[in-house]
Amino acid sequence: MQPGYNDKPADATVRLTGVEKSYAEGMQKRIVLNNINAEFPHCRFIVIQGRSGSGKSTLLNLLGGLDLPDRGEVIIHGQQINRLDEYQRTMLRRRRIGFVFQFIHLIPTLTVAENLAFPLELNHINGAEARYRIEAILTDFDLHDRMDAFPDQLSGGEQQRVAIARAVIHTPAVVLADEPTGNLDRTTERQVLAVMQQLPARHKVTVVCVTHSPEVAAIADEIYRLDGGNLLRT
Ligand code: ADP
Ligand code: MG
Repeated sequence: MQPGYNDKPADATVRLTGVEKSYAEGMQKRIVLNNINAEFPHCRFIVIQGRSGSGKSTLLNLLGGLDLPDRGEVIIHGQQINRLDEYQRTMLRRRRIGFVFQFIHLIPTLTVAENLAFPLELNHINGAEARYRIEAILTDFDLHDRMDAFPDQLSGGEQQRVAIARAVIHTPAVVLADEPTGNLDRTTERQVLAVMQQLPARHKVTVVCVTHSPEVAAIADEIYRLDGGNLLRT
């Protein structure tokens, strides 16, 4: 057990308190996030909207422990990320967080099953338990017959469903999704949303999804808008 790391259930999956983040812009300081306060409960589907450049990806990077706030607290699954060192943050990410991106990052030289085995191996889940989880999630996502295919043999929608399966197979607490349907046509988006919508109840995760899509917003439990550095519930 690492210091600063514990398995205690938190009272909310994600908590942001007084979070500020700026970037240097020449001699100036550009405030991107200005006093963000929010609490995302367990097993909810949270959508974050906002125009391009409003800080959505910056916020997801903070939630994923990929970056640290200048001020304030980011608490994920009971862990205050700014109190963790780099190794502890990596462990938190590996165990508790799943990522889904607009541009799908499956490993092209690995089959679907092997792509899914990868996050399990990082969490020391191998053998029969790994096979069981891979079969179960592929069945659940209607991809069982694609198990031995390589990513380039799949449609865009199938690839994104595999990427979503990969983001939850290690039973994280949070899935962070940045425009997960941004690159898909309407029909494909619907297939991907059918899978995403199940995540909170079936996989016990809180989904935090940045999107421009009204179709995605339609399945949200809570919708927030980033505007002028503030995160407002709509
Ligand atoms: P969004 O995802 O909503 O489009 P971003 O979070 O990517 O917005 O960016 C918010 C603002 O912060 C933009 O003005 C962007 O140029 C700036 N920004 C983002 N990342 C960096 C960085 N690493 N260094 C400097 N400026 C950045
Ligand atoms: Mg972005």
